[in-house]
Amino acid sequence: MSTHGTKKIVKTLVHHRTCSVCSWWKRQKPGCIPRKHKCVYNHSGSARSIESTAGLQGVRELAQEGTPVDILQGDGDSSMMAKLKEHGYDITKKYDKNHVVKNITSSMYKLQKEKGIKLSKDVISHIEKCLKYALEQNKGNPIGLKENILAIIPHQFGDHTRCQERFCQERRTEGIKYLHQSLPYKAPLSNPLLREKLEAIFNSVANRCHEYSELGSSQANEHANKEVSLKAPKNVHYGGSKALDYRVHASTLLVNEGRSYIPQVSKRML
Ligand SMILES: [Zn+2]
Ligand SMILES: [Zn+2]
Repeated sequence: MSTHGTKKIVKTLVHHRTCSVCSWWKRQKPGCIPRKHKCVYNHSGSARSIESTAGLQGVRELAQEGTPVDILQGDGDSSMMAKLKEHGYDITKKYDKNHVVKNITSSMYKLQKEKGIKLSKDVISHIEKCLKYALEQNKGNPIGLKENILAIIPHQFGDHTRCQERFCQERRTEGIKYLHQSLPYKAPLSNPLLREKLEAIFNSVANRCHEYSELGSSQANEHANKEVSLKAPKNVHYGGSKALDYRVHASTLLVNEGRSYIPQVSKRML
């Protein structure tokens, strides 16, 4: 878990579903009580529930330590939000741009499979670019975002009635024939069924303009995840012992303090 303002990690939790020592005893000496050891086993649910369980624990501990969480930014995990609510935490969810764009793009790809629809990858990525631009240009401006979003699809079909000068060249250069540089044959799209389907997607996006004009960036989270994956690669199993904890905590230190944590830790161990 990290904070928005400082980009530092404020909470690191490691949950283990297995313990190597316990597993060894279970396998080699069934029925015997394992020897005394620092058991790491601390999660009894499914692998999928780790995130929401750890999320709840993190929010709870932060609140107890005097840093209540108001906004949670993540990849749209609804089970965590449900769990937090269940335990009385009223937290606002903040969507991040990459995930929002990804969801909308994948609904466009789903259209490709529908009967009577022809929609190429190039056209999809062009529309995706327009969407990203709209989100970028209308930060903190839900009304502007709504206008912009509702104009994107009609614009691709040569209908510029909803377009604003600031994002439509046709509007800026009236009288000169406008070429759709990014569309096939530089011509507007024409299939009315396709327009209807695309507009349905973008209308629902426009309806969420208040959420989407306040999108966060998940860059800090992604950076932290990458550091963890370098120190604890997924293809090597560290989860059975404290090795995982050390590696995850070392990643936290690296993100928060830079490399200077290494001599400090070494000194402390002497
Ligand atoms: Zn154990
Ligand atoms: Zn236009």
